[in-house]
Amino acid sequence: MEWNLSTLYASLDAWQNDYDHMKTLIEKMPTFEGKLGNFEDFKAYYKLQKEASVTLNKLYQYASLKSDLNTKDTENAARKQQMATLVNEYQKATAFEKPEILNLGWETIEAFLNKDESLKAYHFPLKKLFHQSEHVLDKDSERLLTNYSKLASQGAQLHGALSIADNDAKTVTLEDGSAITVSSGNFRSHLADLENPKDRETVFKTIFSHYENHKYTFAQIYNTVLNADVAMMKSRGYDSSLDAFLHKNAIDPVVYHNLVDVAKESTDLLKRYYKLRKETLGLKQHHTYDRFMPLAESSSKFSYDDATSLFFDAIDHLDEDFKNKAYDALKEGYVDVHEKEGKQTGAYSSSSLNNHPFILLNYDETLGDVFTVAHEAGHSMHSLFSMEHQPEATQNYTIFVAEIASTFNEHLLLDHFIENKQSDKADKIQILQQSIDDIAATFYRQTLFAAYELKAHELAEAGHPITHETLSGIMRELYLEFYDIDIAKEPGKEYVWAYIPHMFFAPFYVYQYATSFAASLKLYDLVKEDPKNIEKHMQLLKSGGDDFPMNQVKRAGLDLTDKDVFRSVTKRLETLLDELELALKE
Ligand SMILES: [Zn+2]
Repeated sequence: MEWNLSTLYASLDAWQNDYDHMKTLIEKMPTFEGKLGNFEDFKAYYKLQKEASVTLNKLYQYASLKSDLNTKDTENAARKQQMATLVNEYQKATAFEKPEILNLGWETIEAFLNKDESLKAYHFPLKKLFHQSEHVLDKDSERLLTNYSKLASQGAQLHGALSIADNDAKTVTLEDGSAITVSSGNFRSHLADLENPKDRETVFKTIFSHYENHKYTFAQIYNTVLNADVAMMKSRGYDSSLDAFLHKNAIDPVVYHNLVDVAKESTDLLKRYYKLRKETLGLKQHHTYDRFMPLAESSSKFSYDDATSLFFDAIDHLDEDFKNKAYDALKEGYVDVHEKEGKQTGAYSSSSLNNHPFILLNYDETLGDVFTVAHEAGHSMHSLFSMEHQPEATQNYTIFVAEIASTFNEHLLLDHFIENKQSDKADKIQILQQSIDDIAATFYRQTLFAAYELKAHELAEAGHPITHETLSGIMRELYLEFYDIDIAKEPGKEYVWAYIPHMFFAPFYVYQYATSFAASLKLYDLVKEDPKNIEKHMQLLKSGGDDFPMNQVKRAGLDLTDKDVFRSVTKRLETLLDELELALKE
């Protein structure tokens, strides 16, 4: 139940030897500068680049996994530092590549790629490069923009400074006279644990008063973000900020609008859920900050073996190839299961080109941990499929398709739990709540934020002044529409726009969570209808990063410009609500 990293490198000496070899590869790369227009050199360069990227990936993965096993070890930290330097050298050595390729033009490049079988794999990565450079300006204009680029991302820095660095943890006194420390990091767990409504309100108020007290500053910081986005969109000739952000991955803006539309047309389900919660918890009113309270608490323990057998049982009716990848993903030596002193917290699956992926867990025998195993196994299975079917150039996949692979497994496991008559009542309620909360958080809440940032950007593009009243007004309207809750009546909640870091450091990003969640549910629906449809899902996993995400899911049978994909979420929510009502009555 521990990683065996010797499958990557037999010893630290072996790692160091490869490191030294990588340095010689890096030295060779700049010798191709100015020569890529010559076919033989072009071919030789990409051969070298393939070896270099595989080596760099493997070196990096080893250093980072080793360090995550003990983050307190100074040698591990030094090795990671060494890697950071190497990556930087690699970037400098290959900096000439993109501009030179773009300069040669797509026609020349395409002719090169068609000339040789070994170059076929670069077709999509280079096509993507040309796509992304469509809005690149001439050299002088680009130099000008670069001079301002740090300033353009200053909104994120300012937000971090005011919401984290200048935001100390606070001590609050509870109704029973005891005192607790409340911080942005721990207040959610307090909200789940505190049974006295007054205490929950106090904790919530303590966190959100920071945003209320600095509302003028936060609004100005958000203006920095909006102004930068509008300036970028205008300078680069996009029709809107939304277009500018979706262009990179060639996402049709219709997808974004469909998502918002479907979420808005189905908010009655959300309202039904919160009404059920209110009744079950015996609350006079269900506040936004009451959403963390559990409807039932499972005391069941699940060993790691329980978790893997539950997952394997849940996929037992599916295709052999799919099952084999699941067994392979969780094979001995590739999962580090238990918590250890100094070990990195949380859970992830890490992959590098051509190497078996590794899963890190901090397994604690809870029901939630069982789902984490299935989730991370999904990421590893994705990597294994991609490794088997894709050349190095297109093995890496985007986050957009990554979360389809992982959440798909969670749907399988959930249904296995619901259908299993032996499941404990508290377990069943907890898992249903967890899954519904997941839909509320991933689909509805993220979409509400997506609708907010679209509206704010539209106002900024039209030249409207943006004040804290404007931003709170947008949020108030959306919360009424989605939840039927007037956030102005909750302490500080109308400043929720100031609280979400994504709005400041990654505009038009959160819609991806909701969209890929919908795509995974739609695929899951198809498999439920007919297990043979697992073919479609596997097709997506096998496609790694060989195309833009929308095209990849299209080849798997999903059209994201069709609202039907998003409606699988609302259908699922309805089924889960029915199940939850039933389980609560039992
Ligand atoms: Zn994930």
